[in-house]
Amino acid sequence: MNVKLIGYSPNPEKIPAMAAKLTHSITKPEELEKTPEDDLKAILNHVINLGHTSVIEHTNFTFAISDVSRSLTHQLVRHRIASYAQQSQRYVNLKKPNYVIPPKIAANQVMKKAYQETMNIIWKQYNKLLEMNIPAEDSRYVLPNATCTNIIVTMNARSLLNFFELRCCLHAQWEIRKLANLMLKEIQKKAPIIFKNAGPTCKSKGFCSENNNECPLYPK
Ligand SMILES: Cc1cc2nc3c(=O)[nH]c(=O)nc-3n(C[C@H](O)[C@H](O)[C@H](O)COP(=O)(O)OP(=O)(O)OC[C@H]3O[C@@H](n4cnc5c(N)ncnc54)[C@H](O)[C@@H]3O)c2cc1C
Repeated sequence: MNVKLIGYSPNPEKIPAMAAKLTHSITKPEELEKTPEDDLKAILNHVINLGHTSVIEHTNFTFAISDVSRSLTHQLVRHRIASYAQQSQRYVNLKKPNYVIPPKIAANQVMKKAYQETMNIIWKQYNKLLEMNIPAEDSRYVLPNATCTNIIVTMNARSLLNFFELRCCLHAQWEIRKLANLMLKEIQKKAPIIFKNAGPTCKSKGFCSENNNECPLYPK
């Protein structure tokens, strides 16, 4: 899995802070830029603590994500408040086997071997179909959920808070959880106030949304 933050809004915290100040100010928005930095930080902190997060919709982040499974991206694209571009299995022939091995399978040599053998058979059949002039859009039907794919995703900061709440949680599936944690680590460097409490509800809101007090993350 590779994850790279490839773009984000300029002034990722200043603009949301100005937007928050605007709502309670007689000052024209263009003049709010002159507000001292510390005042803007305090305002943003205040609205984030209150959960008034519509102002952070003004900030976007774009990630390039590669070598993740189709299983992961199927879950990722369920997050509707986002924009996506994904490598097409219609136009790209995936001739060489490229797939994710789940760690629990990789940890067991016998299972890993069986898994790899299965993947080799699948790709052999996929290539056979292509050789028989079956279009890639049909040949791909034999490919597994484990198949690697590449995707670019853009989300605004509010949608990302929701994404991290759901996907950094230990109840989320391991691969998308790994992705979410890597993304969060990257953007906390760019927008530390917005994402200071980002993560599962046990971290951000002090309760378990899955009602699981056996979870190792549950606040004791
Ligand atoms: C642990 C886990 C297990 C899951 N298991 C399953 C499963 O078994 N089957 C399955 O189908 N999905 C499953 N999901 C996916 C889940 O149901 C959501 O589709 C996914 O997490 C996207 O979340 P979202 O809708 O909040 O995000 P987004 O689509 O980004 O939406 C963000 C927010 O916008 C609002 N919103 C967006 N669209 C609408 C709308 N049309 N109407 C009203 N409000 C809207 C909601 O407040 C929503 O929370 C699972 C998710 C997790 C985290």
